[in-house]
Amino acid sequence: MQQYVYDFEQGSKEMKTILGGKGANLAEMSSIGLPVPQGFTVSTAVNFKYFENNDALPEDVVKQIDDAVKRLEDKAGQKFNDPTNPLLVSVRSGAAISMPGMMDTVLNLGINQEVAESIAKNTGNYAFAYDNYRRFIQMYSDVVLEIPKSNFDKVLEEYQEEAGINTFKEFEKEKMLEIIKEFLEIVKVKTGEDFPTDARSQLLKAVEAVFRSWKNERAILYRKINAIPDDLGTAVNVQRMVFGNYDGTSGTGVLFSRNPSTGEDALFGEFLFNAQGEDVVAGIRTPEPIANLKNDHPELHKEIYDLAKSLEKHYKDVQDIEFTIERGKVYLLQTRNGKRTAKASIKIAMDLVKEGLIDEKTALLRIPANSVDALLHPDFAAESKASGTVLAKGLAASPGAAKGKVYFTAEDIVEANKRGEACILVRKETSPEDLAGMLNAKGILTSRGGMTSHAAVVARSMGKTCVAGCSDILVDEENKTLSNGTITLKEGDYISIDGSDGTVFAGELQFEEAKNSDELEILLDWSDKYSKTMVRANADTPVDAQVAIGFRADGIGLCRTEHMFFDKNRITSVREMILAENLEERKVALEKIRPFQEEDFYGILKTMGERPITVRLLDPPLHEFLPKTEQDIEDLVKVTGKNKEHIMTVSEGLHEFNPMLGHRGCRLAITYPEIYKMQTEALITAACKLKKEGVKTNPEIMIPLIAFNEELEMLRKLVKETADKIIKESGVELEYKIGTMIEIPRACLTADKVAMNADFFSFGTNDLTQMTMGFSRDDVNVFMGEYIDKKVFEVNPFVSIDQEGVGQLVKLAVDKAMSTGKEIKIGVCGEHGGDPASIHFLLSCGLQYVSCSPFRIPIAKIASAQYHIQNESK
Ligand code: PEP
Ligand code: MG
Repeated sequence: MQQYVYDFEQGSKEMKTILGGKGANLAEMSSIGLPVPQGFTVSTAVNFKYFENNDALPEDVVKQIDDAVKRLEDKAGQKFNDPTNPLLVSVRSGAAISMPGMMDTVLNLGINQEVAESIAKNTGNYAFAYDNYRRFIQMYSDVVLEIPKSNFDKVLEEYQEEAGINTFKEFEKEKMLEIIKEFLEIVKVKTGEDFPTDARSQLLKAVEAVFRSWKNERAILYRKINAIPDDLGTAVNVQRMVFGNYDGTSGTGVLFSRNPSTGEDALFGEFLFNAQGEDVVAGIRTPEPIANLKNDHPELHKEIYDLAKSLEKHYKDVQDIEFTIERGKVYLLQTRNGKRTAKASIKIAMDLVKEGLIDEKTALLRIPANSVDALLHPDFAAESKASGTVLAKGLAASPGAAKGKVYFTAEDIVEANKRGEACILVRKETSPEDLAGMLNAKGILTSRGGMTSHAAVVARSMGKTCVAGCSDILVDEENKTLSNGTITLKEGDYISIDGSDGTVFAGELQFEEAKNSDELEILLDWSDKYSKTMVRANADTPVDAQVAIGFRADGIGLCRTEHMFFDKNRITSVREMILAENLEERKVALEKIRPFQEEDFYGILKTMGERPITVRLLDPPLHEFLPKTEQDIEDLVKVTGKNKEHIMTVSEGLHEFNPMLGHRGCRLAITYPEIYKMQTEALITAACKLKKEGVKTNPEIMIPLIAFNEELEMLRKLVKETADKIIKESGVELEYKIGTMIEIPRACLTADKVAMNADFFSFGTNDLTQMTMGFSRDDVNVFMGEYIDKKVFEVNPFVSIDQEGVGQLVKLAVDKAMSTGKEIKIGVCGEHGGDPASIHFLLSCGLQYVSCSPFRIPIAKIASAQYHIQNESK
């Protein structure tokens, strides 16, 4: 018989796929002797059995649950429905990959009127007994019977308002019973049935509801955002209740063993005395920082600290822990590796290495390559902050700086984002329903909630700037305004928020330039130590090259020469060249461009020194250079002496319907060889000049958009003859390479032939993606969103390589090139060269280097180090 239900004693942390993260860790904590209330887990396998069985638990599963309940009753010495000693349980979701707050939870299950009365009698604590009962009715109704919690909240709020009190527990017994009666009445009216009283049927229904919640809207959205597969399913954990709401010596809290925002090694979290879990996140009572315990209850603080540290040592990582104190005794209800900001992930990994808990390789694998990006994001400039209008100060919930227009609902943010506006989501507090808004906002500001509130936790995991609990401002969601009493901002007004110190400013502040940090340096040290892959930069100017060197680029993998042509002072000469009607005219124009080119090449070669630099010869889609304005045409009239109408006619004649598939790249040079000739002369002249000045360089000339070996053969000959002539005339020795981009499917399919004329290949995966899919790079965004929504593919293939299709062509081309036995260097310079998933794939195909924009170099370095560490033993 297949096992579907596991007692905590039967599991371990390795069993996440079966028990979900929460279940596996509850099992692990039990087995290492930590104080965990007993319980069992219904496995993830049951989730889809439940859906397949027309949304009902199969009989064999029900039988195993019944048996597990019996075992739990024996261990706890308590029984379902037994008024003298009732067993109450919690029912919680827990998938293999944590999805905090996305699915449902029911506490105090097993309670009914009779049981509540006997708890009141046995404990002499009626407030506790009836508080549990009314909470259960609310939660069960919400989760299982789908009667929104607000129905009950409204009634409770009315009673509280009338009595002038804040919490249910402050009522007299009779009032409590009256409220509970009203709650039960709501259920009767809404469902036509009495509220269920039998613990077993409550349990089975609650387990089913948790399984159902796998498919609720917010869980689906969360999985989509976080690329969590839809077919994992959740497990359900059933656990004996311990009561943080018993009395003043009881309480509940959540904590991180280190600060998840900054990585600082200090307990970080919040707790509430006399409360149950939901109170900490609900924002009704303000939780206290965990540090306060240190002064008021030092032994309790020490006990919690020791437990947190022993969990950290056991798991060798920062833990995100839920605990409950029942009459002075601490219980652990959950632990998992804590989510953290990019900044914290780096500090924590480094500290754990220093503490000897993990080694450098493990540390590197712990840092999501993309997350170093956040280290490079700008803060607000100090002067701008100093002169900014401070609106208020809130909690620094997720670091970084963000600015934009204020919107008050997730829907408005999504709409504003579609209009291309940068925006900030402002709410009293966020809930999982706000996820789409949070995702589309630049930053999030809330007036309520603590550092572990929904807004704070979710923003941190998204790496999004967030100021939470900013109680100095009044948020009027109805009228769409926010105010600090003096200044009022309305929808669409600008605001700036600093998630690193919690300051909120009216208006737009200026960002500061991104800068390198010490941590980044260590990270780059480690990456360089464990990576065998060269990371080059896509850089077109000496300034770009300097930034790239700052990030320790191993060279330049793509210098797009057409970008040197866009300069205001040069563009007319370039247009003159493009519109030239014969060789003579073209040569005249090219001679005007030559000095610029030579100067540019000199600058960039000098900056890079001996590092290899791949200069790609001209590859402009023609339309980018055609004259657009009256002024453009007038400028041409001046330099060419031709009349306006004639220039317009020639220009119209060059119009292309598909410029991306038009007269660009090597095709230009097949028809006008003098263009590549001039560029080669300019580059090699600059290199020879530098050589004479004592600067060694390492130029590589790259010919773009090759589809036929014959194109490459012809142009290689032209480039080689031109370069050799210059070198000979200058009397210096200079080595250089000639290679090609592989960006047309035909070049992949015939890569063995193409390889015969190339010293190197660089995959232009932007064009290769465009041409393999037949998606115009310039027009695809019109339908890209729809394609991703409808799951034609999961991620934009221009961001992360399509491994199945485009990837196959890459692999084929590499294999074909290698099969020639010729020594050939192979890399990538499309955007995918800075995307971690693509890097892993491309390295697995046999690529030897990657090239990406300068600011993505750290990402590429970490990703390639991670690839080599993961594949070390292979
Ligand atoms: C490419 O096609 O991947 C590439 C790097 O060239 P470009 O983006 O300039 O076409
Ligand atoms: Mg290209």
